[in-house]
Amino acid sequence: GLFNIADNAEDLVSRPPVVTIMGHVDHGKTSLLDAIRNANVVSGEAGGITQHIGAYQVEKNGNKITFIDTPGHAAFTAMRARGAQATDIAILVVAADDSVMPQTIESISHAKAAGVPIIVAINKIDKHDADPQKVRSELLRHEVFVESMGGEVLDVEVSATKGTNLDKLLEAILLQAEILDLKANPDRTAEGVVIEAQLDKGRGPVATVLVQTGTLMPGDILVAGNEWGRVRALVNDRGVQIKEAPPAMPVEVLGLQGTPQAGDRFAVVNNEARAREITEYRQRLAREKAVAKHAGQRGSLEQMMSQL
Ligand code: GDP
Repeated sequence: GLFNIADNAEDLVSRPPVVTIMGHVDHGKTSLLDAIRNANVVSGEAGGITQHIGAYQVEKNGNKITFIDTPGHAAFTAMRARGAQATDIAILVVAADDSVMPQTIESISHAKAAGVPIIVAINKIDKHDADPQKVRSELLRHEVFVESMGGEVLDVEVSATKGTNLDKLLEAILLQAEILDLKANPDRTAEGVVIEAQLDKGRGPVATVLVQTGTLMPGDILVAGNEWGRVRALVNDRGVQIKEAPPAMPVEVLGLQGTPQAGDRFAVVNNEARAREITEYRQRLAREKAVAKHAGQRGSLEQMMSQL
């Protein structure tokens, strides 16, 4: 197949964790993503202002962390439905004044189904009616056992709006990453997943991809879902053109011939002929599927009519 060429253990090196933020609506997912991003912009750096490309990286004590910048589990489930597991760690945001809510419970089951470890961010601790202890005991009922309750799930009390304990949260993520011992081989052709993609007026099709193994470089011939292209440029989350994207780095890819879908897997192939062959085959399959679906609908309509 196109994917998962086995790597030798000695070629594997540590890579940054990829983190998704989940939780109930209004519990502060967007605020937390923004607060972490803004707290880690290095002033004076070229292109210091971060761009919203669907994912970003921050650095803590010399270690990088990649955040998927689309809050909620919509993106997470869309990717999983397409067989792409992009997340290593799920941050479960629970507002300390509202505690466990329906989408909190949904998020827990999504993370558990995916086998992704949870870190609990108990948010809004600045509020006068914040009750973090209530959050911990309610989580217990959904089989999320935080450390102070005798479990192994890390939890951190934060305030996204006041910026409280964001460092502690990043430290918890790095600790969890160490336990997971995440590795990848940077010295091979790149593979990964499409985080988001759109047709940009000036730049043509632009896909934000997350490299999961290998190193992506300009000039690479990339197949993503039903689309392919020769990488014309790679742009990082600061809007800066880069020469290579190693494992766990999110980058915008310019040069695709069409727009792939979020959750599509991508891989670099040897030559354009191969890329064309694969994508033409996939596009034909997609068309046949659509025709079959249409015929199926017509068939059942005819059956319905004949029964009248
Ligand atoms: P999301 O729906 O989970 O993305 O939640 P948002 O990030 O949009 O936050 C919902 C509301 O809660 C907004 O009005 C935020 O300003 C507010 N909020 C988020 N985090 C905090 C916090 O730590 N403290 C307080 N007091 N308000 C917060």
